[in-house]
Amino acid sequence: MDSKKSHSLYPCGRPLLTFPDPLKIVLLGATGSIGKQTLEVVRANPERLQVVAVTCHGSVENLEQELILLAAACPEAPLPLVAVTDPKARRKAAELFSGRLLGEGASALVEAIEAPETVHVVVNGLVGAVGLEPTLAAARRGVRIALANKESLVVGGDLVRREVQTHGAEILPVDSEHSAMAQCLSGRTEEEIHKLVLTASGGPFRQTSAADLQKVSLAEVLNHPTWTMGPKITVDSATLMNKGLEIIEAHHLFAVPYERIEVLVHPGSYVHSFVEFVDGALLAQLGTPDMKLPIQYAVCGEKHWPLPGSRLDLLQIGQLVFEEPDLKRFPCLALAMQAGKAGGSATTLLNGANEVAVAALLDHKIKYGDIPRIIEEVMESESIHPVGSLQDALAFDTQARRAAEVIVARLSQTEREV
Ligand code: NDP
Ligand code: MG
Repeated sequence: MDSKKSHSLYPCGRPLLTFPDPLKIVLLGATGSIGKQTLEVVRANPERLQVVAVTCHGSVENLEQELILLAAACPEAPLPLVAVTDPKARRKAAELFSGRLLGEGASALVEAIEAPETVHVVVNGLVGAVGLEPTLAAARRGVRIALANKESLVVGGDLVRREVQTHGAEILPVDSEHSAMAQCLSGRTEEEIHKLVLTASGGPFRQTSAADLQKVSLAEVLNHPTWTMGPKITVDSATLMNKGLEIIEAHHLFAVPYERIEVLVHPGSYVHSFVEFVDGALLAQLGTPDMKLPIQYAVCGEKHWPLPGSRLDLLQIGQLVFEEPDLKRFPCLALAMQAGKAGGSATTLLNGANEVAVAALLDHKIKYGDIPRIIEEVMESESIHPVGSLQDALAFDTQARRAAEVIVARLSQTEREV
């Protein structure tokens, strides 16, 4: 297939980049849920995978522990470079990682990608819009990007496409639904795709009534039925914003219009997603909920390497259940769909407002039901513009955050007065 005709960010029907062993990996967000599971995958494959740089925000002791485990499993590998972005953790980081600590602040993320002599794969396991700039830097290095940070595509999907295409990089998805689609698309071209069907667990409130949703506690929000993940994505899964962000992610990755991306609630989370082809063939990928599979599949360049762990027992499951998502009870999903269709800065604004609202919920400042209210109010108050550069994206992100913070302050004031 002529790559010039291709619009998908994912290298659909195109050959993947090839690298010699061991694959040299930069791991952004090494202390997070995705980061730690990536390190597990590396520890299980010391001959084939090597970490050359890692980053964390403030949890430097946690990072030190992870690097001790890594060094024990990979004794031949040189110690990786380290970037710590939280200035408050700088002194401790300098003590722990003397001689290999990169600069401070968010620019250290870009430095972690640019500093190592050889890089083959950048795993982006950062949470939030902060992931966009390093995704663009990885694209400029022309490497494989194993992308967990879906916010990169929500905040600046068009920018990422431009840099990936200009510099010959590739994006392989880590998000389990998009990895499932990539596994179904192996050897196919984007012209063969008719429709994408994203599955959703439905989160902890799948069966909670609209009235009861207004009273749920933070502990209930954080109690996800099938996956153990970082706090932000766990909240997004409870509001179904996560599925909304994933629709936008799928649109950018596979160049499929929003009208042909569907969501099905599938409580067991056995089917990770479907691709329907133009001849009506429907392919799915199934498995137990274990992020190490999509992480490994993306990092190694879409091969099915051995992976220990539990296996799906179809007889035990017996049947697969699917339901339509309820956009009334879960307005965040509807808001994300609207933003995706509106395009331009709409998804950047959506993401910025959501990040502030989620942080406020985790900080006990607002209620679960306030999240969609905040996002809707921000979306209604801001106009939509094209996102032509990283500076544009960051400016729209800041604009949305400021607007959302004003609403949070108002809501938390009302809360205190009640
Ligand atoms: P976590 O919160 O567990 O980890 C986030 C990582 O990013 C940590 O290493 C953290 O460092 C670092 N970090 C946080 N804030 C900043 C910042 N401001 N600047 C630099 N680094 C920062 O997140 P997850 O691993 O759950 O999620 C990561 C991404 O992967 C998200 O985009 C999520 O949507 C996506 N994803 C996650 C899945 C999962 O199973 N967890 C599944 C599918 C997608 P520190 O520890 O020092 O704070
Ligand atoms: Mg997912």
